[in-house]
Amino acid sequence: MTFKDLNIIPPILEGLSKANYTSPTPIQEQAIPAVLAGRDLLGCAQTGTGKTAAFSVPIIQLLSEKSNAPKSGRHIRSLILTPTRELAIQISDNIKAYSRFTDIRCAAIVGGVSQKVQERALNQGADIIIATPGRLIDLVNQKRIELKHVQILVLDEADRMLDMGFIHDVKRIISKMPSKKQTLFFSATMPPEITKMVKTLLVDPVKVEITPVSSTVDRIEQSIYLLENGKKQSLLNHILQDKSIVSALVFTRTKRGADRVTRDLSKVNITAQAIHGNKSQNERQRALNNFKSGVTRVLVATDIAARGIDVEELSHVINFNLPNIPETYVHRIGRTGRAGNSGMAISFCEKDELPFLKDIEKVIKKTIPEVKNHPYPMTGAPAFVKADQTSKSAAHKSAANKPARSKANPARKPKSEWFKKSGKADHSKPNHSKPNHNSANHSKPKSGTVNKAL
Ligand code: AMP
Repeated sequence: MTFKDLNIIPPILEGLSKANYTSPTPIQEQAIPAVLAGRDLLGCAQTGTGKTAAFSVPIIQLLSEKSNAPKSGRHIRSLILTPTRELAIQISDNIKAYSRFTDIRCAAIVGGVSQKVQERALNQGADIIIATPGRLIDLVNQKRIELKHVQILVLDEADRMLDMGFIHDVKRIISKMPSKKQTLFFSATMPPEITKMVKTLLVDPVKVEITPVSSTVDRIEQSIYLLENGKKQSLLNHILQDKSIVSALVFTRTKRGADRVTRDLSKVNITAQAIHGNKSQNERQRALNNFKSGVTRVLVATDIAARGIDVEELSHVINFNLPNIPETYVHRIGRTGRAGNSGMAISFCEKDELPFLKDIEKVIKKTIPEVKNHPYPMTGAPAFVKADQTSKSAAHKSAANKPARSKANPARKPKSEWFKKSGKADHSKPNHSKPNHNSANHSKPKSGTVNKAL
């Protein structure tokens, strides 16, 4: 299957080819024809699946085909709502790349930065805006943005918008748009409130479901360290002595925790920056850019700031704190192992986090292999914990006191090859030697879950 087979128009094909996209990902194969046909869409998919192009490519095409009447000027004809600024900027950059040979213009409208630049972009005219709810509401209230011409609405990461308390803003924004429009709704999870929204917003949607939450972890090699209270920083410093960990995204529970970890890493000469809600948008973007370009080795993040961040070929995610919500664990470790790459997820667990670990293992339906040989073992761990599994993983065969998993970051692979199907990956055995870039699991949607009209 190629993008041409999906009837994508030549200028967009050119943009995709410049971005090194040769063939569509499973979600793109399923979503693009449905959106081009004008259908509403319900996508259960996370970032890392090619979701952005799945909705934005057909939007660019639909809007290009129905160009604005010259006299009426440019109107906002599509709105993409996202929970975080980083995600909005990332989507906007992607859309610019896909649409560079078309007449379509887009702008990101996000908080935390000067409104002036965004006003300028709006004055020049934008067909598509990618916005976070807060700033968008401000601009709508100031009458600087009109939503009455919106034909296509995308709600991206709807569950996270709900978690972040944006639901009322989202409803208000929707009330400013024409009721007759095409709606594309993406959510990684479907809590009851989201199901309710889906029922009120979508008309006979096509359902596209890729990598349900409990199976995204298949490609990612996981390990857990049970450790003595108060030793997490020492263990992190110890693990990061392994130079083959070229980049690591470290998750902490709190913003202060993120700052503390960053500071302590810097003290031992490990380059690190924090990204969280107390940082200005410019600081956040700088930290992200530095991490992406390899200037900093470690990005320390809270869940909300990291949601949706796409760092190509990130090999290691480290959970400094275990989340109390198991799905958060899945989202966190999903930052690695993206777009068909393999990845490593290392988690730290102190005694009082053991119940979280049990909940996580229940959701992912796996026991996370424990790394036993490390300098800060938990003393007096309840006997049931991990008693039966340490010998199963090759990780545990490592020499005493060796950091877990000292695999080099995977060699860079051209994007064009990410989604090529190769031999079937065997996930039953941990493979510590060679990263698997072409997981068959990733390239095939789960059977029976796709393109079902609700
Ligand atoms: P997304 O899920 O949209 O965040 O995409 C994850 C990553 O895959 C991004 O780095 C995209 O640029 C990349 N990507 C998306 N679709 C394709 C494709 N068809 N071919 C190659 N790379 C892609």
